[in-house]
Amino acid sequence: MQIRSPKLPPGQERGLVVSIHDVSPRTAGVTRQMLADLAEIGVARTSLLVIPNHHHRGHFQADPEFCAWLREMVAAGHEAVVHGYFHQRESRPGVGLGTRLMTESYTAGEGEFYDLDEAEALARVTQAREEFRSVGLAPVGFIAPAWLLGEQAERAVRRAGYAYTTRIGRVEDLERDEVHRSQSLVYSVRAVWRRVVSLGWNSALLRALGDRPLVRVGLHPPDWAFPQIRRHARKCLRRALATREAITYEDWLGRQRARDDSAS
Ligand SMILES: [Zn+2]
Repeated sequence: MQIRSPKLPPGQERGLVVSIHDVSPRTAGVTRQMLADLAEIGVARTSLLVIPNHHHRGHFQADPEFCAWLREMVAAGHEAVVHGYFHQRESRPGVGLGTRLMTESYTAGEGEFYDLDEAEALARVTQAREEFRSVGLAPVGFIAPAWLLGEQAERAVRRAGYAYTTRIGRVEDLERDEVHRSQSLVYSVRAVWRRVVSLGWNSALLRALGDRPLVRVGLHPPDWAFPQIRRHARKCLRRALATREAITYEDWLGRQRARDDSAS
C-alpha cells in the first residue's frame, strides 16, 4: 500500500531536506551516483553543498564540465549552497586544547570556519559568492564545513547578506533572524564502531522527529562507499517520504516566511 502525504493546510506541509555535503570536482562522480540513487526512491530535489576550492586542489570554476553539470542540477530543482572555501582549517599555533580537540578530533581538521576572524571569513564568503555568480549560479545559503561556524564567521556570513545558514541542530534564517530547531541525521564513517552507532542513532532520531515540520538528512560522499549506510539512508528517506516532501533549504525557508507573513 502506498502511503500518501496527508493534505495539510498551505504552509504546514512537512519538509525533508537532503543535503549532500562536499560537492566538488573531486567528488563529482560519487555525487552523481548518490543523486541517481536518491532520485530512484523519490528524492528529486536536494541542497548541494559545494566547496569552491576543495583542499586547495583546484577551484571548481576551472572545470567547465562540473559548472555545466551544477547549472543543470539547479535547473532541475536542486539548490547550490556555498560550503566553506577550502574546507580545511589551517593549523594555528597557540590555540587551546578545547579548540584543538573540536577542530581536529571531531572534524578531522575540516573546521575551516570554526575560528576564522571576521575579516578573513568575510573575504572568503564574499569571494565564493562572486565566483558562483560568475558561472551563472546564485546561492543564498552558506553552510560551514562540519557545521562549525564560529561567532566571528557568523557575523561575516550575515554581513555578506546570505539568507540562511545551518548547524547540526538548527536552520537559521538570517533574513528574518529566526531559528528553526531540527537535528540533522548524519552518518559517521571514520571507524567501524562509529558506522554501527550512527545507524541506530539515525533511526532513533528519525522516529523522535515524528511529525515536526522539518527532517534533515546530511549525506557525505564517503557514506556511499559503505553498502549498509547506503541501504540505511535510503530506508530512512523512504520512510520520511511517506509523509513529507523532498525540498531544498531555500524553498523550505521560503514557505516558512510565506506562512508567517500570511499569519500576521
Ligand atoms: Zn563538508
